[in-house]
Amino acid sequence: MYLNDNIESQFRIDINQKKALIRLGLFKVRDLLYFFPTRYTDISEFRHINTLKDGDQTTIIGIISNLKTKKSFKSKISMGQATITDLTGKINIIWFHQPYLAKMLREGSTVRVTGKVSENSSYGLTLTNPEINKEDILPIDLHDSLFQKTTTGDQYGYPVYSESKGITSKWIYHAIGKILKNDCVKEIPDYLNKDILDKYKLPSLHTALVWIHSPQKKEHAEIARKRFAFEEVFFIQLARWQERKKYEELFSYKLLIKDKDINDFISRFPFKPTDSQTKTINTILEDFKKDKPMSRLVEGDVGSGKTFIAATVSYAVIKNRPVGQNFGNLQVAYMAPTEVLATQLFENFTKYFKHTGISIALITSSGCRKFPSKTATWKDGEQIKTWTPIARNQLLKWIKNGEIPIVIGTHSLISKTVQFEDLGLVIIDEQHRFGTNQRMKLAKKEGHSPHYLSMTATPIPRTLALTIYGDLDLSIIDQMPLGRKKVITEIISENKREKAYEEIKKQLKDGRQLYVICPKIGEELGQSVLGRLVQADGPSREKIQQDFIRADKNTLSELRTVTDEAKRLKKDVFPNYNIDIMHSKMTKQKKEKVMQDFSDHKIDILVSTSVIEVGVNIPNATVIIIEGAERFGLAQLHQLRGRVIRSTYQSYCYLFANAKTDKTIDRLKALTKAANGFELAELDLSLRGAGLLGGDKQWGITDLGMEAMKNIKMVEAARNEAINIIEKDTDLKTYPLLAETIKNKNIKLHFE
Ligand code: ADP
Ligand code: MG
Repeated sequence: MYLNDNIESQFRIDINQKKALIRLGLFKVRDLLYFFPTRYTDISEFRHINTLKDGDQTTIIGIISNLKTKKSFKSKISMGQATITDLTGKINIIWFHQPYLAKMLREGSTVRVTGKVSENSSYGLTLTNPEINKEDILPIDLHDSLFQKTTTGDQYGYPVYSESKGITSKWIYHAIGKILKNDCVKEIPDYLNKDILDKYKLPSLHTALVWIHSPQKKEHAEIARKRFAFEEVFFIQLARWQERKKYEELFSYKLLIKDKDINDFISRFPFKPTDSQTKTINTILEDFKKDKPMSRLVEGDVGSGKTFIAATVSYAVIKNRPVGQNFGNLQVAYMAPTEVLATQLFENFTKYFKHTGISIALITSSGCRKFPSKTATWKDGEQIKTWTPIARNQLLKWIKNGEIPIVIGTHSLISKTVQFEDLGLVIIDEQHRFGTNQRMKLAKKEGHSPHYLSMTATPIPRTLALTIYGDLDLSIIDQMPLGRKKVITEIISENKREKAYEEIKKQLKDGRQLYVICPKIGEELGQSVLGRLVQADGPSREKIQQDFIRADKNTLSELRTVTDEAKRLKKDVFPNYNIDIMHSKMTKQKKEKVMQDFSDHKIDILVSTSVIEVGVNIPNATVIIIEGAERFGLAQLHQLRGRVIRSTYQSYCYLFANAKTDKTIDRLKALTKAANGFELAELDLSLRGAGLLGGDKQWGITDLGMEAMKNIKMVEAARNEAINIIEKDTDLKTYPLLAETIKNKNIKLHFE
């Protein structure tokens, strides 16, 4: 057996199993070996049913049978009933209010049940409203060790792997067991240097592989996971820093900026920059003076004034001839993720640069504009239209010959068709939509490396930022402009809903607009999830949520959620207002059209999933309702709330939460206190774990790697070790194993 062998050449599998393996991303023997358990079931935590007595708080595992649902005779409450059997006995379980539970469970399947035992006159020993989880544990093996104790005995729990229809956790467990016994694993060379392993007390690769798949002690599983988390961060850092070094090897302009020029530009703004803004601008200007291109990320909440920073440093680039060059001026390209955002940036820039005479262009697929316009439109002594539409070809010519210094647009700005005379700075809004590789391509196309400034309002914890943006220096804006009105944030329980609607109607009547955000899962399901969530908290809570979302992905559509809610609001709540919807299944054009209509106030109420673009500025939309708020992370709620932060009117955020536990309410209350999104992201990480940040795998880091995000020391260590190596040996010539592993692991730069 070789690690590069296809799985099907080593294991007998049928077509359904093959499909399942593909869904799980497993092709080669190596993939299986690196397919780590999502968790371990600690068998010592289970009790035998025949040992239970009244009042015990317990977890049991067994087979479920006699599933029944009925309405209770007196109260008409729906209730479910079943029996759990293990090798030692039987116990009844009863639950109320959760009819869907019976649908979820199947006769004869293995379940893990946690709850309190009580003696019930009509049912005998009973667990009432317990937490029930389908258990993918291996019942046969479990019986071996749990009830006969004699066999292997000393294994810590059982690894539980993600399954897919056709492939069970048990199959994976046994397949990996077979691989682990093979020479190809025994002889596997360790790509991490021994000194790194010793320094951080990490196990060797072979040991870690054995321990992660079949730990004999809890500590073994933990230390093995730690090693793989470390190495994941380490490899990402290697790849990022390597890329950065390569970018820096190309020629870049060293720019000297006159303080006076900058101060003049800033002094024309009607406000004084915050300390955070000033500090960030100064850092960037210092970067410009260095011999290598800047690679910087600015993170700041929506409304913290990032566009002001972008404008000021753009001015600095244009205003100054590159040191040692005697030709014209440099150019700036500013990219936004959508046309709406690009257009907004263009409009802001035309205001900021009005007095300078500097030309600015907007390129989008629906048309191009040039500022300033020769044929200005005036009204009441005020110039109302300051730009002219322009033919794309003409504009491209002017960009190519350097006549237009600032070009704003979407992604397409760095396409082959747009050629710059001399690009000095690239600014990218909402960085995670653009690739690091694209940056390299851009540099190659331009023949040099432009300074690179990326900006994001996505609040993520520092550890995550250091990892996924490992190639960038970080500036954080943790201050909001003075005098900004705080969004009034209220947590609304179900019985206060009507009252909240009444308040909102007043705002609509005054001419304001409203966002209604629905969670991404269907309504019915949403309700049922809630039922179960009420009882669970912590990791099991998250698991229930994920189970549900996974199980029902196909039957639900977010389209239905938003359409149903929009219909309901039109019919029952806001009949006199125009309501429209937006969700992620809509085309980009359709989304932009809806956004434009909302911006033009053709729509009063926009019902949407959380897809509304970050940073879209609709000052008249001052109220946001977030349904199912308890299901969002704090940082995400904060970002959603950011949609109504731009206005001079007082704005409101209503968190409709079905939270029955104090814990949930307390968590949401953090939103009324926190100073900024980064604080909330850190709080998410500590309260609910990294899983929440990983949603949809959007960062391209595995769940295991995400565990490392709780550990800043580990992230910093992995980063420092990676930087040390790349600084010494950019191409990893003296580290052939590392170079090979990066290739094999096919480290996915999530941007692509
Ligand atoms: P961001 O891009 O970070 O979301 P913007 O740059 O769009 O934020 O700024 C939001 C609003 O705040 C704009 O209207 C801008 O003119 C204003 N603004 C920026 N900086 C300041 C400041 N220091 N004081 C007052 N207002 C500011
Ligand atoms: Mg912005």
